[in-house]
Amino acid sequence: MQKLILTLIRLFPVLILFSCFLLSNQVTLGEPLGKIIVDAGDYMRSGTPVSLDLTGVPVGFPTDKIRLIEIRGSKRIPILSQLEPGSPPRLWWILLETPAAGTKLTYEIERVKDEGPILDVLYEDAPYVEAKKNDSFLQIQTHGPSGIHKILRYHNAVVPAPEGQSKLYDRSAFIHPLWSPEGSVLTNIHPPDHYHHLGIWMPWTHTQFEGKPVDFWNLGEGQGTVRFNKFLSTSSGMIFGGFKAEHDHVALKTDDGDKIVLKEVWEVRAYSSISGPGWLWDFVSTQRCVADSPLLLEEYRYGGFGFRATADWKGETAAYLTSEGKTRKDGHATRARWCDTAGVSDGNWKGITFFSNPNNFRHPEHMRIWPEFENEVFFNWAPVQAGDFEMMPGVDHVFRYRQYVHEGKVDVAKTEQLWNDYAHPPKIEIETAASDGAIMLFDGTDFSSWTAGSDRKIGWELVGDAVKIVPGSGSIMTKQDFTDFKMHAEFKTPQLPPNVKGQGRGNSGIYIQRRYELQILDSFGLEPKDNDCGSLYRFKAPDKNACDMPGRWQSYDIIFHAAKFEGDKKVKNARITVWQNGILIHNDAELQNKTGAGQPEGPEPGPILLQEHGNEVSFRNIWIEPL
Ligand code: MG
Repeated sequence: MQKLILTLIRLFPVLILFSCFLLSNQVTLGEPLGKIIVDAGDYMRSGTPVSLDLTGVPVGFPTDKIRLIEIRGSKRIPILSQLEPGSPPRLWWILLETPAAGTKLTYEIERVKDEGPILDVLYEDAPYVEAKKNDSFLQIQTHGPSGIHKILRYHNAVVPAPEGQSKLYDRSAFIHPLWSPEGSVLTNIHPPDHYHHLGIWMPWTHTQFEGKPVDFWNLGEGQGTVRFNKFLSTSSGMIFGGFKAEHDHVALKTDDGDKIVLKEVWEVRAYSSISGPGWLWDFVSTQRCVADSPLLLEEYRYGGFGFRATADWKGETAAYLTSEGKTRKDGHATRARWCDTAGVSDGNWKGITFFSNPNNFRHPEHMRIWPEFENEVFFNWAPVQAGDFEMMPGVDHVFRYRQYVHEGKVDVAKTEQLWNDYAHPPKIEIETAASDGAIMLFDGTDFSSWTAGSDRKIGWELVGDAVKIVPGSGSIMTKQDFTDFKMHAEFKTPQLPPNVKGQGRGNSGIYIQRRYELQILDSFGLEPKDNDCGSLYRFKAPDKNACDMPGRWQSYDIIFHAAKFEGDKKVKNARITVWQNGILIHNDAELQNKTGAGQPEGPEPGPILLQEHGNEVSFRNIWIEPL
């Protein structure tokens, strides 16, 4: 039975491709948005997840659907894809196979107006990766022709310490179990030799904060811990399932008691089984010191991304192999691009390969590999082995890892192919097509759609693909006026010192029809108020606080219906729906009047104004589509 399941999983790409060929030449046109060229580069590709930054492409969340079509000669073959909201949105798909290094593939993307029956046929047999949540945990699992397979479980609720052990071992914010494709549990938590080991988790060990040692790893010390705070998003789809969750790294014994030192976001993404016979999943941890003083990570032999294997893997039935050919005997404290850990569970060898992204700090990273006397298997990417480093307040540190969970012992050729996919991904370019509906207001190149008014020049500064407000230079607005529309805009508030408070923290705003302000402010982590980020200024607070930290790009997706007038008399209020960072914050809210400094309401359309309010707020990727 298990063999049959694996065979079906392996056959999956072929089944999908076969259905695609059946459908070729039957695809009806949506609205063309662009032509994509994928350059496979120096490697053959097989089951490679890829994604495209949709800056400059008018795709809004969650109202738009995208269709990806591969062009092969005269054939137009629809390809499974998944749209991820964000700043910017991204389109994901899997390169099933490229015949040789240097291959170039051509695709088109369309905005789907009407999905129609054709895609239903395509999707009928499609895999689906689901992030399923309850009060205790979120589980990522894949649905395919061979049924449901569990991939991993993330604990948002506190898992209590083992019976009779200190409450200090109570902990949330870790992964366990991680399952193999055949369903064996590969992780372990609270083993008696190390009660603080928690499947897959990521605390630091020897640190100094405000002059005191804090150990976030050895929970029994009572100096520090890590807590789940909230989910930022969950995704399910045909290409991946995943989540973003925010964690607090808490020092327990500061002069002021508990204090959050680091805010961490975990981004976990498990790909559909069409990527190959095993599970491929990505892990990104973004950490920022949110205290007023820095966190010093001291040189130590372990700390960071850790994995504790099932107790089944021990002695002769367990193995390590690094990309540099090191094993349990000589691997500890060496550096590598990847490390495979494996062992025997349920009668068969199975394993997990850990890849460290080349962009990681101190790559290739040092590793903690347990020597023989430890008997069982523990693995840790430990950049702290290379020496102390300091996390300064307000600065993001990003740690990126990919995991390949497989049946059987490590296959070095396959592992190197996966490494090349991760370290040297295909190059993807898009030539955008002029949309027949949407208007690019700002794609990073110029201010041709904007004016600062008839009597002054635009004083804002172009920086890369973005525009940054120059304080004192005045607001800017679109040359064109709008009535009903949908709109997408990305913005970033600056990191300011803690003594700058309230409305002084990264203030700007989007004035719709120059009448109604959708506020922009640094309101990270606050209770929503009617003058904070996401508010309809002084009129309605956002339904929830969806703000990210200053210094990070955020997005607004807006649907606006103007007030209706009969002559000079208003007969219907304006209405607005807003998603911030993909989260609904106003659902068809009525605007009873203009906000604050807005122009008076009236029957005539109005421009979009971006407010200059004395702060260096940045914008990028702004488009609008009249309805
Ligand atoms: Mg404002």
